[in-house]
Amino acid sequence: MSATRRKQTLIKLVRFYPVFALGLLAIAYLFGGFTHQINPIFPQAEVLTTLSIFMVAMPVLFILGFMLVSILSDRELKRSVAKRNKFAYEDAFELPNEKMSGYKLALITGREPTLTGLTGDRYKADDSATCASNPEHVPPVIDCECGFYAFKNVKEAKFELSINPGVFLIDVDLFGVGFEYERGYRAESQVVNHLTAPKRCMRCKIFSPKVFVASYKIGYTDQTWWQWGLRCGLCSHTFKQSDVLTIKEMADLLKVVIV
Ligand SMILES: [Zn+2]
Ligand SMILES: [Zn+2]
Repeated sequence: MSATRRKQTLIKLVRFYPVFALGLLAIAYLFGGFTHQINPIFPQAEVLTTLSIFMVAMPVLFILGFMLVSILSDRELKRSVAKRNKFAYEDAFELPNEKMSGYKLALITGREPTLTGLTGDRYKADDSATCASNPEHVPPVIDCECGFYAFKNVKEAKFELSINPGVFLIDVDLFGVGFEYERGYRAESQVVNHLTAPKRCMRCKIFSPKVFVASYKIGYTDQTWWQWGLRCGLCSHTFKQSDVLTIKEMADLLKVVIV
């Protein structure tokens, strides 16, 4: 299990903490922990002790868990840096020369539908990467995160797809200078071969999808955006004509084959 995965599991557990605490209170109440009965099943003193231990012990355990995960992820980072150093080719022409085909996830956002990475960077079907942190960079740069990313393994992309609702799977070829990393590639330019339409409506997950519809999303801060999803006839009938596109129209606008 990677450090990221462990952290995700811990975060999920933290969300259950209030449920655990309420459950414990309910059990204590049911067994007479809060009454002044002469002979409750759990004497009040014991209930209070258990509750106090729980209130103190659980947060401490979570803090220790997060500390452990951060130590592990530091180690993972050091290992990957060590690996990357081995990777610093003197001459770009000595880079491994293999065809970089991969899979990645994309949202379709904007009034004018545009492929958008999960980090928010928007790109065309055939595009070259730009660096958001340093305009001097021609991506990919070794010590930066810029460049187009793709998973090598379709299974990995499909797993990420399953935990990111509203996202599409696309199949890409990467060109130019490229780096290979543990999970895939990072390269200079990218051509989208096709977008795989989900088999079922993205809302009800029952019927087969018919049209793309645009809905208005409101972010945590004050940003808002339009996001396109593929839906069945039933889940799209309330949409205005201007917020609906057929699969063919979407394919033409994105200049990407939709399969
Ligand atoms: Zn950069
Ligand atoms: Zn539906």
